[in-house]
Amino acid sequence: MDTKRTEIEKLGEFGLIDHLASTISLINTTSVKGIGDDAAVIDIGNDLVQVVSTDMLVEGVHFDLTYLPLKYLGYKSVAANVSDICAMNAVAEQITVSIALSNRFPVEAIDELYDGIKAACSNYKVDLVGGDTTSSLSGLVISITVLGRSKKEDVVYRSGAKEHDLIVVTGDLGGAYMGLQILEREKGIFKENPQIQPDLDGHDYILQRQMRPEARVDVINFLKELDVKPTSMIDISDGLASELKHICKNSSVGCHIYDEKIPIDAQTSMTALEFELDPSTCALNGGEDYELLFTIDQKDYEKIKGNPHMTIIGHITDSNEGMYYIDKQGSAIELKAQGWSHF
Ligand code: ADP
Ligand code: MG
Repeated sequence: MDTKRTEIEKLGEFGLIDHLASTISLINTTSVKGIGDDAAVIDIGNDLVQVVSTDMLVEGVHFDLTYLPLKYLGYKSVAANVSDICAMNAVAEQITVSIALSNRFPVEAIDELYDGIKAACSNYKVDLVGGDTTSSLSGLVISITVLGRSKKEDVVYRSGAKEHDLIVVTGDLGGAYMGLQILEREKGIFKENPQIQPDLDGHDYILQRQMRPEARVDVINFLKELDVKPTSMIDISDGLASELKHICKNSSVGCHIYDEKIPIDAQTSMTALEFELDPSTCALNGGEDYELLFTIDQKDYEKIKGNPHMTIIGHITDSNEGMYYIDKQGSAIELKAQGWSHF
């Protein structure tokens, strides 16, 4: 009898996915891209592809209903899925929603969750076309699958970055993580003394970043208008360092990014300092910003230069050069992706 037992912790989330992927091969010629990108890509003929992505959120692991109202949870779940479709440079069109519920939730609570889901569907112009409903013995589980579409030639993978390409991020980073720190702090205070009202004043921007993120559909549209097709792209759900590592690994390249270039909102920086955290560390390793990270050919530099939604933070190097982060003093530090570990 085989008594070998390997703890999941030993592989980590990405190691486990790689482990599973290594045993799976694709049979159908319509399966253009399987495991390993933000979404799978399926040939539907006429030079079009369908892109498919799925995400599961588990109460107590991914969200805490003591401070995230169900309506926000619903919105955020859809936004996170649509973000993965954006990361392929495609347009989201349909979602399915599956939920596992305990009897702790009345119908009114589910209505609230769906109000958020429907608000996001209306905002991102996607149709809710199905799902599944089942019971759960512990908390709430919500799993959304999103379907999108694109011209085959327009799809952008994690694997296309080339030496000398510019590395671009949208919006600003680290805000969602700092918003979470505020919510956790106020929850802790409330637990100790329920008489004290949560003090959320002055943190509206980072709370919004945490509680009501938006998928950057607008950026995908700007890029189309500017006639820029990124050479590689991924969305920032686990943190800049972790996502950059995926791009470099999949494209077999290295990178240099510059601390002083990383876009961080003033409220994120101030809150980080209040918590005695380095704002850059929060931007590099904080998750859930749902911004886009992409690379462009240098010939497209003029087209995005000065664009308020996009910031060039570095460039792609030869793979032999490794992944480096140049700090404020100009020292090159090897990039380590901390990302998130749920295990
Ligand atoms: P993202 O953060 O963009 O949602 P993930 O890190 O969740 O991406 O997933 C990376 C890739 O691994 C995707 O292609 C996803 O479909 C695939 N994947 C994740 N979990 C599994 C699994 N249990 N079985 C097969 N493929 C998986
Ligand atoms: Mg993604």
